[in-house]
Amino acid sequence: MLTKIKILVPVKRVIDAALKPRINKTKTGIESKGVKYSINPFDDIAVEEACKMRKSHKDLIESIHAVSIGSLKAKEVLRTALAKGVDTSSLVDVGDEEVEPLVVSKILKSFVEREGSNLVVLGKQAIDDDSNQVGQMLAGLLGWSQATNAAKVTIGNDGTVEVEREIDGGVEIVKAPLPMVITTDLRLNEPKFVTLPKMMKAKKKPLEVVKPQDLNIELTKKLETISLEEPASRKAGVIVNNVDELISKLKELKAL
Ligand code: AMP
Repeated sequence: MLTKIKILVPVKRVIDAALKPRINKTKTGIESKGVKYSINPFDDIAVEEACKMRKSHKDLIESIHAVSIGSLKAKEVLRTALAKGVDTSSLVDVGDEEVEPLVVSKILKSFVEREGSNLVVLGKQAIDDDSNQVGQMLAGLLGWSQATNAAKVTIGNDGTVEVEREIDGGVEIVKAPLPMVITTDLRLNEPKFVTLPKMMKAKKKPLEVVKPQDLNIELTKKLETISLEEPASRKAGVIVNNVDELISKLKELKAL
């Protein structure tokens, strides 16, 4: 008898991936005013994967619960996840507070325990702060197996999960029984767009709002952002007409 799978999918609201982030005036963060926000692209992939798992293993997947930690505006990313096929969701309302990866991991651990989840599928990184820490720390706090940067996930008939990981110059295949944490890489799947009727229907699905205090978690900070710099802008290039000109230009620049 196979264990039923209860999936937890964390989703973060981040600046839309198509936009170039601008640094704020105090140089301590990203400018958030007048900017479009969306679901973190790796989390979109995680939601898609959880929904795909349910399609291919209807009898095995018992529930999919999404969690977002952020301001009340993060309700929109939860609604997107619900429209894509997630069953229920929770928003941990921290206002505009920046929450560090360790605290995010502690909050997610409390949801794993509350929901009885045995599989967490989440992004390999949030594209706003590029921390790439939560999946690993969550697996550590839970004492679970972890497969990071997943490019393919297969649930076996024996209840184990096989994950292909793209590594430098090849593919590594790892396998473990549940419970497990999987972080998603770009090539895992291509998330579908949600249609408006699905978004409308999703409004009826459960979206609870809780405070960190309800979970007995303090938003402690261990890091202070001293400053943030944009990459130096590249100098304009020079167009040369032939190889001779190229060589003399390189000599002039002492590159030859
Ligand atoms: P990070 O380690 O911060 O780069 O984030 C890795 C993953 O952790 C993200 O792709 C999300 O799935 C999850 N995560 C990070 N921050 C949050 C948040 N505020 N709310 C929900 N999930 C989060």
